[in-house]
Amino acid sequence: MKPNCHRTTAAFTGIGILALWALACPAQVPVQVQAVQPAAAERNPAALATLSRPTGRFGRTLGLPKDGKDLYIPDEDYIRFPLPPGAEAYADVDALKIKSMMGEVTAISRKSRDDGNQYWGRIPGTPYDRMTQDWVMAQFEKLSLADVRRQEIAMKPLWYPTEWTAEFTVDGRTQALKTVFPITESPPTTGDGITAPVVWVGLGTAADFQGRDVNGKTVMIYSLPTPGGRDHSADWSGAVRRANDAGAAIILVEMGFPGNAQSEPEGAVGTAAPTVTITPDEANLIRDQLDQGRPVSFHLRLATEERRGLKTGNIWGVLPAASKEQILIMAHTDAFFEGAMDNASGLAMMLDIARHYAAVPQAQRPRTLVFLTTPDHHHGSEGIHWVRDNYDWSNVALIVNAEHPSQTLLYSLDAGVMTANEVGARRWFVGGSDALRALVRQTFREFGVATYRKSEVSPGGELSQIYAKAPSFHIIDHVIYHTTLDTADLVPAWGIEAATRAFLKIIDKVNTMTKQEIAAAPTDLADPSRPVR
Ligand SMILES: [Zn+2]
Repeated sequence: MKPNCHRTTAAFTGIGILALWALACPAQVPVQVQAVQPAAAERNPAALATLSRPTGRFGRTLGLPKDGKDLYIPDEDYIRFPLPPGAEAYADVDALKIKSMMGEVTAISRKSRDDGNQYWGRIPGTPYDRMTQDWVMAQFEKLSLADVRRQEIAMKPLWYPTEWTAEFTVDGRTQALKTVFPITESPPTTGDGITAPVVWVGLGTAADFQGRDVNGKTVMIYSLPTPGGRDHSADWSGAVRRANDAGAAIILVEMGFPGNAQSEPEGAVGTAAPTVTITPDEANLIRDQLDQGRPVSFHLRLATEERRGLKTGNIWGVLPAASKEQILIMAHTDAFFEGAMDNASGLAMMLDIARHYAAVPQAQRPRTLVFLTTPDHHHGSEGIHWVRDNYDWSNVALIVNAEHPSQTLLYSLDAGVMTANEVGARRWFVGGSDALRALVRQTFREFGVATYRKSEVSPGGELSQIYAKAPSFHIIDHVIYHTTLDTADLVPAWGIEAATRAFLKIIDKVNTMTKQEIAAAPTDLADPSRPVR
């Protein structure tokens, strides 16, 4: 490391207890490609491919998903919360079966990748979205739900990157990059793409930019996942915006998940410069060159299109009861990449709740259970918007959102990552009476569903669109999502099991309360689920 580099350490405690680091080395790097002497490449012919020098306490730095064989833990080896006494009614929840259903959903995503889509997943408006809807309808029909139907939804125009390539050049030698990924709404490049010298700005704070000329450059920013693949420091700290406003030709965001996981976070809306992510493994190849004072040139070619007139669909199914009062149980279906946690896990969990209650005679079901999947969560949310604006809410006693119920607890360790045989705590929300809040809190504790100390002020996820319409609750994990880390390997079965059992008990207890008892205005000021802002 050059003596004028300084090291910035940021420790995060939360769902993943991520202690992340970033190196910022402003101002010492010349950026003119023309200054390069060709002889340098001859002195070090293998330089480009091998220069990344990982360090770590265990002799090497572990990253994901590349070191999955060392880091992924079999489901059976996770700590399992036992079924609490008196909860035998929920012993029928079979977590490994739920996980195998999850695998049927992630297989649709993998098919989209294997069919040659560079922008892959269960993207709304694509055939893979339709396959997911068809799969949900088949599951509802298998459970003999009533009124199973698809409700067609017109989508807003879809930003869709059709093809991209990226590479970097040092000393006249060029190396292709495999993990660059465009951030949603990024502008495309034109013609043969853009080539621009790389400037490293660390975390991209205002101080990092002071005295730097980034105009027309590839501005490379290190971004802390806070805590996950969607929310990250380069977005909320204004680093992306700062680079854009200073005239960057390309904004290159290194997402700080150690390893080679691709990321599709937020943060490119409104940028004039094409804005893409890169993994630490490939970013380090560029950084190693910059650290040695070698000018690096980055080339990006990115084609996008706006797809108009696309259709998607909400799927509905009902378990009728004597009472016309309802509990609405929902899960969103769309995903970037495999989307195992986000939201194949929630979808499979919702289906297991349906399975559990479908086995109960109708006369013993106090309230009608309405099951709903929505398809457009990561895009325009048109499916849930229709529900928000048009559903008859007068009979809805409770909304239950099944979204991201389980994820492996992750730690940053030196420059790498470490997994733990435990389920991470979730962010969470409950809206309703003191009695509902107490019930949700106590039941989560009873079943071993770990949560953050404070609940969300208002819920994230799909619940964000409708929580004002009726009392509601959910848990929603948020580290690995929107990345290629989001596979079944990091979604522990016992976490889904605990959550499903807890949700079932909450629904049963809510069914012993009147609508008024569920909805009464909260008064308990000491309740940690009470909004603090
Ligand atoms: Zn989600």
